[in-house]
Amino acid sequence: MKEVLLLKCGEIVLKGLNRKTFEDRLLKNLKRRMAHVADCEITMRQSVVYVEIPDDADADAVMECASRVFGFATISRAAVCPEKTLESVIATAKDYLAPNFAAAKTFKVESKRGDKKFPMTSTEISQHVGGELADLFPDVRPDMHHPDLTVHVEMREKYAFVHAGPVPGAGGMPIGSNGRAALLLSGGIDSPVAGWMMAKRGLELCGIHFFSYPYTSERAKEKVLELGRKLTAWCGRMSVMVVPFTHIQEEIRNHCPEEFFTLIMRRFMMRIAEAIGRDHGAKCLVTGENLGQVASQTMDAMAVTGAVVHMPIFHPLIGMDKEEIVTVARRIGTLETSILPYEDCCTVFTPKHPKTKPVLAQVEAEEQKLDVEGLIARAIANTEKTQIRYYEDEQQR
Ligand code: ATP
Ligand code: MG
Repeated sequence: MKEVLLLKCGEIVLKGLNRKTFEDRLLKNLKRRMAHVADCEITMRQSVVYVEIPDDADADAVMECASRVFGFATISRAAVCPEKTLESVIATAKDYLAPNFAAAKTFKVESKRGDKKFPMTSTEISQHVGGELADLFPDVRPDMHHPDLTVHVEMREKYAFVHAGPVPGAGGMPIGSNGRAALLLSGGIDSPVAGWMMAKRGLELCGIHFFSYPYTSERAKEKVLELGRKLTAWCGRMSVMVVPFTHIQEEIRNHCPEEFFTLIMRRFMMRIAEAIGRDHGAKCLVTGENLGQVASQTMDAMAVTGAVVHMPIFHPLIGMDKEEIVTVARRIGTLETSILPYEDCCTVFTPKHPKTKPVLAQVEAEEQKLDVEGLIARAIANTEKTQIRYYEDEQQR
């Protein structure tokens, strides 16, 4: 049976004059991702995108791919009726929704008549189709108020479709529609979730990881790249920049008081992320910081850390509880990689008594002891770029 996905655009339908730009981007994103899964015909009409699934394609894979493209509010996986007649609709519903009827005790029919030339009203269609289906499935009672199964009939311009109702899409806005961000990506639970949340708001991501070899192992780096790969399931290809950080950390340890170590280190991270991000077209930084989670995430500490950069810094997890963050991590598929044992550069040389209420002038004075510009230039010059692709056959950027 021929199947199609009907994808409803999310909040971009609220856009005014530039709505077309958002729609074009959404369509382009979907087509580019889908090209690796199946040779689908993809078209858009009146804020609904039609993905026609070829007979030889893996329809589940097509559905999974579509459900990870930001910008769609709902997805309905539907059967295409061979003809635009009630008989054809009934016969299609009988076959296509047989498993749904088998699992339901009650049902109703809801119809949409997108094709205003169709000679019946939507209520008449629902009544007629509902009556016939009630005869075909005598064990399933009609129930207009709380049915287990709602059979949707859509009489559209070209075809009639039958489906069992929409499921939520990925939501958010099309990737790239709000520009590009540099994501400070560690191996933990938080930063991949933070990246995902901002990608959902239409930001394209460029990952930046600070690597402290040999204090942290090759495995820790592989883990971060794997987290990047998991994110690409949602945001498409992305590059991850691995910045050598060991020398900077050793310099801080050797020249600055222990209690300032983390703060000064984080200020280096921010400066480097801003410089690399800028070179890659990013206009903001994203971190997984979460108010009060650790000493470096108090309001005062974050102010001192953020003071070195000019770009806006987004911390989408700032007000979430750990449990909520873990739930998102599990849902988006990054959790199992995040919880693998690993060392992070933040845990190297961690002070016993970090400053939770640092004073900016004091931190700046301590930093004077270092060749800040030189250290940054050297780290950037030795940064390695890795292209991460979700699909093997995806092109290099
Ligand atoms: P995460 O779970 O994301 O590692 P965390 O709770 O462990 O976060 P910190 O280690 O204090 O918190 O780091 C706060 C944020 O700083 C991280 O969410 C991430 O955005 C950034 N960060 C920390 N370590 C690194 C690193 N090695 N490379 C890149 N960014 C990092
Ligand atoms: Mg961490």
